Amino acid sequence: MKLVLLGAAGSGKGTLAKSIVKDFNIPQLSTGDLLREVAKSGSDLGKEVGQYQQKGVLVPDEVTFKVLKERLAKDDCKNGFILDGYPRTLNQAKLLETIVDIDAVISIELEFDEIVKRLVSRRNCPNCGEIDNTEHEGYTGNCRKCKTPLFQRDDDKPEAIKTRLEVYKQNITPLINFYGDKVFKISSANSPSETYKPVKLFLERLQNE
Ligand code: AMP
Repeated sequence: MKLVLLGAAGSGKGTLAKSIVKDFNIPQLSTGDLLREVAKSGSDLGKEVGQYQQKGVLVPDEVTFKVLKERLAKDDCKNGFILDGYPRTLNQAKLLETIVDIDAVISIELEFDEIVKRLVSRRNCPNCGEIDNTEHEGYTGNCRKCKTPLFQRDDDKPEAIKTRLEVYKQNITPLINFYGDKVFKISSANSPSETYKPVKLFLERLQNE
């Protein structure tokens, strides 16, 4: 299954993708993560990418598409994948179409006020990638899985969040229209397991078609 996950930053894309990875045995390809790796490399390109990410604006298409194309060429993508964070614009969807046929698009929807609340309190583990939230019961500031101290992403600070949500708002309708009846819409207002239930049923049907 070749899947696209659409949704604003903080809407629960990453969490939903992890459930899909577990049940359907396909890799999650997050362009945000792939680009953060490039930024960490310290190269000139990495420095440039890091600046875009810090501000919450989109990295230029030629860079993002090249990084994604290289990842898609790896063996583990042969039986399918979930794209988390790509495409983000109509142009990116058109570029993607030149290399793969997408089977379905899951679009996660959540009120912007709730997204901002979730993003400002989001914390990440630099070691294992686990995500936590300062509002969660039992939050200690250390990772639940590996105990490493958590950190806040620079782009989870208020100014960058505003930019990221604006960028999302401008681009989402053309993307939904582009994918037409391939789109399955869900709300992530409830718990992650409630959000996942209808998605799982949808994907099981798709798999058996
Ligand atoms: P994310 O981790 O998905 O929230 O992405 C973090 C940042 O990475 C974004 O704000 C962009 O700067 C960059 N990024 C991720 N995916 C894309 C994409 N498809 N196109 C351009 N920039 C991207």
